[in-house]
Amino acid sequence: MDLMEYQAKELFARHGVPVTLGRVIDDPADAAAAAAELGGRVVVKAQVKTGGRGKAGGVKLAATPDEAVATAGEILGMDIKGHTVHRVLLAPAADIAEEYYFSFLIDRANRNYLCIASTEGGVEIEEVAHTNPDAIAKVAIDPAVGVDDAKAAEIVAAAGFPVGAEHVVRKLWDAFIAEDASLVEVNPLVKLADGTLEALDGKVTLDENAAYRHPDHASFEDKASADPLEAAAQEKGLNYVKLDGSVGIIGNGAGLVMSTLDVVAYAGEAHGGVKPANFLDIGGGASAEVMANGLGIILSDAQVKSVFVNVFGGITACDAVSNGIVQALELLGDQADKPLVVRLDGNNVDEGRKILARANHPLVTVVDTMDGAAARAAELAAVAAQN
Ligand code: GDP
Ligand code: MN
Repeated sequence: MDLMEYQAKELFARHGVPVTLGRVIDDPADAAAAAAELGGRVVVKAQVKTGGRGKAGGVKLAATPDEAVATAGEILGMDIKGHTVHRVLLAPAADIAEEYYFSFLIDRANRNYLCIASTEGGVEIEEVAHTNPDAIAKVAIDPAVGVDDAKAAEIVAAAGFPVGAEHVVRKLWDAFIAEDASLVEVNPLVKLADGTLEALDGKVTLDENAAYRHPDHASFEDKASADPLEAAAQEKGLNYVKLDGSVGIIGNGAGLVMSTLDVVAYAGEAHGGVKPANFLDIGGGASAEVMANGLGIILSDAQVKSVFVNVFGGITACDAVSNGIVQALELLGDQADKPLVVRLDGNNVDEGRKILARANHPLVTVVDTMDGAAARAAELAAVAAQN
């Protein structure tokens, strides 16, 4: 999970990294009071999960609270590389003497951690790597040792940072390790006019595999910009990814679902480019409840015109899945209003097909092969789109 700048700074503050937290607002009207509180002269910064905000006009200085209102109004709602700005951070305008680049990351190829640091900060590090590669220091960090006093001194010397920067380097390392991050990047890390250092920007990627150790990280999730269907699916514990097409997909097992997406996209070519509407893996235990939850999410997607349920019976046999489908349709009632194409194979397939035949639900068509079912689902979606 990637954090926004204000969240990264909150995390930094917990570990003693020098930052100014400022105030986050989502309404320009709140900018005047916030700016006044922060001393009048502020920087207004778009909070989106992408770099280059400055270049895109998403970072601006405002000299007065009135100007802060106008500037916040300009930046809120702005589109930066496809990300809509829903929030801005207001912080006291810093008096910058120098801008540096700093990061800790995982160096997978060398099974190490790596520190990248440069006194050429404030611009994209890729650009520095291109124009002035000698200005970039790369220091390997032994995971068994970490960043001790000696390593911090080595990093500061290699980068050419001012004496005293070791302290900040160690605090950033503390944040990186303690929070199970896979990336901590500060660009710019600045030397202020008074000689002190401060992290003026922050990019943090948290390792979601370690989420169980950090219940507090859940609060960093950006519910506002997440897709509402994906958010609803996540709440129900479903493995769901929203896509652009019109054929809803449900399957058991990630591999089967992925090949189902391919087969539907291929079959859809014959129907004017019909495409899958989502990825949804209901996993091994396809209970009626899981099936109902999955169907409920897919059917509430207005773009969905037909649904393809593709199940290979394994430990959970086809008869259990068929019962799940029948009960899910009962649970959903009128909410189920789009045609369903079901393909079953594997364990207990005959019994599974019998259950569906007996239920004889008007929306359900059973097709025996995966290709045949994909073609039928694509055709139904194309027909529904025309009506
Ligand atoms: P990014 O473009 O998304 O990386 O956003 P940054 O937070 O790095 O800001 C871009 C640039 O804006 C920085 O490199 C600084 O030069 C400038 N900047 C950001 N905050 C301040 C501030 O408080 N005062 C001043 N003078 N400049 C700032
Ligand atoms: Mn930056």
